[in-house]
Amino acid sequence: MPQLKVLGGGREVGRSCLQLDINGHHFLLDCGINPAAEGRASLPDLSQTSIEHLDGVFVSHAHLDHTGAIPELLRHGFDGKVYMTLPTLALLNLLWQDELSIMEREWTKDQRLWSSKEMHKILMKLAVPTTYHEVFKLNSIRVNFHNAGHILGSTMTEIINNNYRVLYSGDLGTSSNHLRYWRTEDLTNPDVLICEGTYGGKNRKSRAETEKELLSKIRAALEGGGKVLIPTFSVGKTHEILKIIKDSWNSLPNVDVYLEGMAIETLRVYEQFLIYMDDKVRRAFIFNNINPFRWDALRIFKGLTERKQLHRKEGPCIIMAPSGMLRGGWSVWHMMRMASSEKNLIALCGHMAAGTTGAGLLDGTRDFLLRDMISKDEVGVRVSCNVAHFDLSSHAMHNELCNYISKLKPELLVLVHGEESSLNALAESVQQYAGRVVIPAVGEKIDLMQPAMSQESPHNVEIPLAQSTSLILNKEASMKVRHMGREKYMRAADLRSLVRR
Ligand SMILES: [Zn+2]
Ligand SMILES: [Zn+2]
Repeated sequence: MPQLKVLGGGREVGRSCLQLDINGHHFLLDCGINPAAEGRASLPDLSQTSIEHLDGVFVSHAHLDHTGAIPELLRHGFDGKVYMTLPTLALLNLLWQDELSIMEREWTKDQRLWSSKEMHKILMKLAVPTTYHEVFKLNSIRVNFHNAGHILGSTMTEIINNNYRVLYSGDLGTSSNHLRYWRTEDLTNPDVLICEGTYGGKNRKSRAETEKELLSKIRAALEGGGKVLIPTFSVGKTHEILKIIKDSWNSLPNVDVYLEGMAIETLRVYEQFLIYMDDKVRRAFIFNNINPFRWDALRIFKGLTERKQLHRKEGPCIIMAPSGMLRGGWSVWHMMRMASSEKNLIALCGHMAAGTTGAGLLDGTRDFLLRDMISKDEVGVRVSCNVAHFDLSSHAMHNELCNYISKLKPELLVLVHGEESSLNALAESVQQYAGRVVIPAVGEKIDLMQPAMSQESPHNVEIPLAQSTSLILNKEASMKVRHMGREKYMRAADLRSLVRR
């Protein structure tokens, strides 16, 4: 019987890592770290698995909460393959290198999660770059990556054993980012859907409204002579925000826009794979050679002296710098030099994990002890500048998640990658679309039912129900029913509410 073990990302956001055992094969679906934790505390719980027996890892996308623990597998004898799309491999190469520099700068040797050698073994030797809809076979198992529209190269992973299908959503994109949106039309209804629920129970303001607010705050700060710091996630968010600013450039004061750190390299990867962007971007590029991310005002610092000079002199500008949650890197370096002036603005964009400086700013904390990444000094910083937050998330919101699940109608729905309250809210809205909904915690194992085997059982009968007829069943009994054209398993207690409806 196929089984799913939750090694990380159960009732939490971060360290996504699931083990799927199917037909004698053992795969990991992602293997990430918790970006808000430090050192080995950020790893998933790998103690429950025989890492040397793993056949491979399927990587949904490059974000560290899905990939940051893959090098750790090497330390436990892993020698399988790591499957991902080509843009994911290109982004991972940059993200891991950047994270390694942060670890070498800020963590002790024991805390560091990988070395340059381990990183390169995975990227150069074990990684298998593939593309969407290029079905690959691993003995009896077929695997198909579908576009998830979350960041460049992100996938939904479909694993097929005979006619038994497991679909892992990875992180699902939202319709308002500028990537191609996910589709369910190419997917056969899965027996098991493992779905993220980060925004379960939450819908956001429209993207147009949020963009308007962001631009208005930036405009006000620049017109007041202030500098604007936008801490950005090097992958995805930087490019979204660059595009927003570029598209409205005529309505903003003409200042320099500086791009910092790894965002410069990831921008080049995005430019190489413009084919993954939405139709509007692709058409503008094909017919008018318009690059969605670059224009005359975009600058790259030539060195530390230029950065220091910028902060010594008065005058407005925009600086976009990682890390997005102000965990470290150039965003913190610039924040330390901008925080004291009331004219300046720190514009936070997206989710701020608990424990980060970004989350502290949102909670109203204004005094911080920050480490200067160049001098290594710890400095007390009082924040007097303006702080604003804009929800430009690249995750599907509640309505989009409901729409996705309602179209796929799985036998078993496993909700992960969300706080427990978010996953509960999502489960409540979608329970009528799935035979069974499970919200596992880290450490839980789930036996996945195998309808193909059950169909052969002589105990299955289709029972027509008339109004005057009632079935009396133990409320915990599980039975196979046909609902909305699909066969699925339901608990008798759930079946009762369906029949009444
Ligand atoms: Zn992600
Ligand atoms: Zn994630």
